[in-house]
Amino acid sequence: MKKNVIITGITGQDGAYLSQYLLKKNFNVFGILRRNSSDPFKRLDYLKIKNDINFISLDISESKQVDSVIRKIKPAFFFNLAAQSFVSYSFNNPIYTDLINNNSVINFLESIRLSSPKTKFYQASTSEMYGDVQFLQNKTLNENTKFNPVSPYAISKLSAYFYTRMYRYAYKLFCSNGILFNHESPLRGEQFVTKKIVSGLIKFKKNGTPFYLGNIYSKRDWGDAEDYIKMMYKIMLLNKPDDFVISTGVTYSIKDFINLVCKHINLSIKWKGNGINEKAVTSKNQVVVNIKKSLFRPHDVNYLLGDCSKARKYLGWKPKKINILIEKMVNHELSL
Ligand code: NAP
Repeated sequence: MKKNVIITGITGQDGAYLSQYLLKKNFNVFGILRRNSSDPFKRLDYLKIKNDINFISLDISESKQVDSVIRKIKPAFFFNLAAQSFVSYSFNNPIYTDLINNNSVINFLESIRLSSPKTKFYQASTSEMYGDVQFLQNKTLNENTKFNPVSPYAISKLSAYFYTRMYRYAYKLFCSNGILFNHESPLRGEQFVTKKIVSGLIKFKKNGTPFYLGNIYSKRDWGDAEDYIKMMYKIMLLNKPDDFVISTGVTYSIKDFINLVCKHINLSIKWKGNGINEKAVTSKNQVVVNIKKSLFRPHDVNYLLGDCSKARKYLGWKPKKINILIEKMVNHELSL
């Protein structure tokens, strides 16, 4: 008999790839949708899997609605991927961010405890929880590193991370965290920086329109979303619940990422100026990238570099190089 799996955030980047992966593994996939989503099915349509998913429309911040679904479906696995996931937006909307990213997690965990205690729960935790780690002087971040979150997004996620652990220890439920570093793909949301860069540079090549970015000196450890969702599944297959960092172990600045994409699409640029006057220009002095102060976060995370040794050891994790990810994102953008 097919096993039931519930995925929240099914319309997002990771939700779409994870659904595709679990459908191939013959799971019965139930996807939670929010009622006011603007364009819910674009990624699932793109992957041609929309008709294979059982959709349930509900408000994840409403405990009774959540409980009636978990009670009925009693899933083998529950992947909580839904989130207000945009860090900059969280500074303007901290209460909403906490409601979705933290309170909803308590709803899921309470319902699993009371109505479906055999369900294995996965929480989408994030490297943003490490926050301001400059005091670590560029050391790698692992499962034992102290968290120091600096955005409402990261604080809400850190609270949900600890709730997940609390339900594991207090009630002996299978509740695990994947502490995922940034992961990207052709399906990445338009407002995220890697997608902005790839689509901005390709548009520039087509019509010469420049685009704007904020802090290009923050460093991130970027991986491929299609690989990362496989680790989510592996975390659920373990005999015991646990927390895992999933990362590549290599970090690049946003400026490095721009340079790598330019190299890939044969666009020759040079950088000139400093601070908010810094620009990327072509050999004919045509501006490609401008810096805009309003795009800086009120408090940025300057560098993230993950140590994924534990995942390598227990999950067989093998990260790929960034060039493969860039090639996928560029090819997708060119095909549009
Ligand atoms: P995403 O593309 O932004 O998707 C977020 C999902 O959450 C979407 O399906 C969205 O639905 C849903 N959602 C947003 N607000 C909601 C609400 N009020 N009620 C119910 N659902 C809501 O994010 P992602 O990149 O797939 O990431 C998946 C998870 O991993 C998120 O929890 C994210 O915080 C976490 N994470 C991501 C990364 C990364 O680099 N991608 C790294 C670490 C952790 P709509 O389609 O309706 O907007």
